[in-house]
Amino acid sequence: MANETLDLAQKLIALRSVTPEDNGCQQILAQRLEKIDFHIEKMRFGKVDNLWARRGEASPVLCFAGHTDVVPTGPLDQWNSDPFAPTIRNEKLFGRGAADMKTSLAAFVTAIEAFVTDHPDHQGSIALLITSDEEGPAVDGTVKVVETLKARGELLDYCIVGEPTCTDQLGDTIKNGRRGSLSGNLTIKGIQGHIAYPHLAKNPIHIAAPAIAELAQIQWDEGNEYFPSTTWHISNITGGTGATNIIPGTVNMLFNFRFSTASTVESLQAKVHETLDKHQLNYDLNWELSGKPFLTPDAELASAMRKAIKQVTDIAPQLSTSGGTSDGRFIADICSQVVEFGPCNETIHKLNEHVNVADIDRLSRIYQFTMEKLLT
Ligand SMILES: [Zn+2]
Repeated sequence: MANETLDLAQKLIALRSVTPEDNGCQQILAQRLEKIDFHIEKMRFGKVDNLWARRGEASPVLCFAGHTDVVPTGPLDQWNSDPFAPTIRNEKLFGRGAADMKTSLAAFVTAIEAFVTDHPDHQGSIALLITSDEEGPAVDGTVKVVETLKARGELLDYCIVGEPTCTDQLGDTIKNGRRGSLSGNLTIKGIQGHIAYPHLAKNPIHIAAPAIAELAQIQWDEGNEYFPSTTWHISNITGGTGATNIIPGTVNMLFNFRFSTASTVESLQAKVHETLDKHQLNYDLNWELSGKPFLTPDAELASAMRKAIKQVTDIAPQLSTSGGTSDGRFIADICSQVVEFGPCNETIHKLNEHVNVADIDRLSRIYQFTMEKLLT
């Protein structure tokens, strides 16, 4: 079994599936699942391959979710081995996707195989939701599969996303929510003119500055038990023509909120508009919501996972909502309990990405024991 998960992880890493390419990964997963009576549905949207596989009709539905795509390698000469030729050195498995998240995919499959062998007539259903567009724009991936399932009334009870969540050792962190992400593209308008004739112009940078200072000081909320308080940051600011004798006509800035469930999209937007209006600015502001926050209560799924982790690693995991957004934000729309658990995330998206070989089989057993607690 140890070797089985490692073998499968290596096979997947060897397939160069840079986002949004799947390059045959889902086919390998589907073939394995078909042998143990999963019903396989391929859902291709745009250039993105998605896989929905399910065993059983009954509830509760326990779904494993993840992605086959990986981020680009970066400079190859700075890798100590070919990122698409999985290599074991110093008891670590190296390769692009080793941690994010082909090892988790392999562990899903071997855990399900072992569980189904022991419990061919398990309760409820087991499902797999796999996409090849998590690292990219995430437009034709999980969100589309979720919409399809929702349209036909196929809802999930529990979902485990295999993202790498652990920090120092396998078992230390389960994510039970994620902050939301809301961006704004703000253009503040002035009047362009000769810098020697300022009475004929209006400098948008000067009139924007006090408003920016005020926005940067706002306490948006206090956070809550699971989330830190909401933050607001400007990521880009541009204005001016490059000449030193022109007052620019406009200044543009991009900003982003990372927000908790203590705020809403509407409350944050209203506060920004109120502040800009108070400073009597003439502006255009376009909003883009890339993900609402979600929070899973500490209930059946988190509890089952915590026990399984303790059994395998003897560690009591902490629940956390830190980090960027993930596909959990989409799945939460059709599933009230979504948690994320996977290997250590120290090297994800980096050169020489790797996982500890010893963690590979343990991860599979954690998933297997979680199924036993929820479906037997
Ligand atoms: Zn990932």
